[in-house]
Amino acid sequence: MEENNIFLEAQKQFIEIAKELGLKPNLIEELKEPNFLSKFQIPVLMDNGEIKVFTGFRSQHNNVLGLYKGGIRFYEKVSEEEIKTLSMLMTWKCSLAGVPFGGAKGGVIVNPRDLSVKELEELSRGYVRKLFPLIGPHKDVPAPDMNTNSQIMAWMVDEYSKLKREFSPAAFTGKSVDMNGLEGRNEATGYGGAVILEKLKEVLDLKPGETTIAIQGFGNVGFHFAKFAIDKGYKVISLSEFGGGVYLKEGLDAEKVFECKTEKNKIAGCYCNTSSCDIEEGRDITNEKLLELEVDVLVPAAVENVITKNNAANIRAKYIIAMANNPITKEAQKILEERNIIVIPDILANAGGVVASYFEWLQAINGDLWEKQKTFDGLSETLGKAFDEVWNLSKEKKISLNKAAYLLAVSRVAEAIEKTR
Ligand code: NAD
Repeated sequence: MEENNIFLEAQKQFIEIAKELGLKPNLIEELKEPNFLSKFQIPVLMDNGEIKVFTGFRSQHNNVLGLYKGGIRFYEKVSEEEIKTLSMLMTWKCSLAGVPFGGAKGGVIVNPRDLSVKELEELSRGYVRKLFPLIGPHKDVPAPDMNTNSQIMAWMVDEYSKLKREFSPAAFTGKSVDMNGLEGRNEATGYGGAVILEKLKEVLDLKPGETTIAIQGFGNVGFHFAKFAIDKGYKVISLSEFGGGVYLKEGLDAEKVFECKTEKNKIAGCYCNTSSCDIEEGRDITNEKLLELEVDVLVPAAVENVITKNNAANIRAKYIIAMANNPITKEAQKILEERNIIVIPDILANAGGVVASYFEWLQAINGDLWEKQKTFDGLSETLGKAFDEVWNLSKEKKISLNKAAYLLAVSRVAEAIEKTR
């Protein structure tokens, strides 16, 4: 998909759903664009004494169900279209999960690896200075996303608090636990995916010990999904990262793969668990082959657009849990549906992250301290309910889970707007 088509695709998907719901044209007009789109220049004093100017964005799509919520990414390929698309996706995701948030997304065109720590801090603080009037604990609460992390959130909260002259931990989420973050936030997206897997087990009567899983992406989401799935008795037989992956039909141990990655800085060709080694038996695997493995559950947990019209016919998994954002193109989604492959859409599968962000915001607003188990229990309850609603609607209307999820998400936002008219 061409980059500047991303937003048109998202709009097309929304308009199809809106028409099916019979939404009035004025509602479609309103929701097919963000409420506000900010584009701004951030001057940063570089280590060499020169000022370099970076371009930042914040798209605030809709806040009828609650304050704007969404991450900030630092990435050289950030574009206005991408930020607008992701902000719309956040509106649907929050609506589906039933958390009182709307949708937003932000970004800066930058490769953070080109910056020193001091320059990165200046850029993070500069971003907040520019956006200050538009964000805040009851307006718009950003979070980390691609190439941003809890350290960047710490600088951003500090800058916001200074400008506001008020301690404001609820202004950002994704903070580290020692900086008013939430116990369990780090694991939340992967944990949420495992909750969805357990719901699938319930409705499809899966036997964990006989259920094989392949996971593409071994970062925050892929690692935690693997760990929780293995803990629950599932057989994860393949895991991969950017440079390739490991495959062992006997099943892998996520912690051991992680140890091997920490030691050798890669996961392909270095995994060993007792007598099983992928290097000895030459069982490392490419990312393309992983997607086409004959497994029960395929979990794309890396990047967008990995299942396309070119490989959708070769997918042999029975179920796909879309943990990455947008891992399946629209054309591929159609092919998978025709082939009766059950796909759990991203707005449901990876909602654990934003649900935990809601808990983090709530903790900060109320001055509470949550224990990890409380976070996990809350995630199980919230995502379990969302899964049931999507599953039941898809059965009732004989439609895909993807369509059921969008119908639910969009209708809730539209109904709320109607009530304000
Ligand atoms: P991460 O940066 O921690 O990990 C990404 C992983 O994907 C790494 O293992 C990397 O090596 C691998 N990867 C990168 N490019 C790849 C490629 N072309 N082919 C195969 N593997 C590749 O990121 P993350 O936080 O785990 O996020 C993964 C996905 O989940 C992203 O799409 C993200 O938007 C989505 N997501 C994350 C969260 C969260 O809370 N972290 C929440 C919702 C959605």
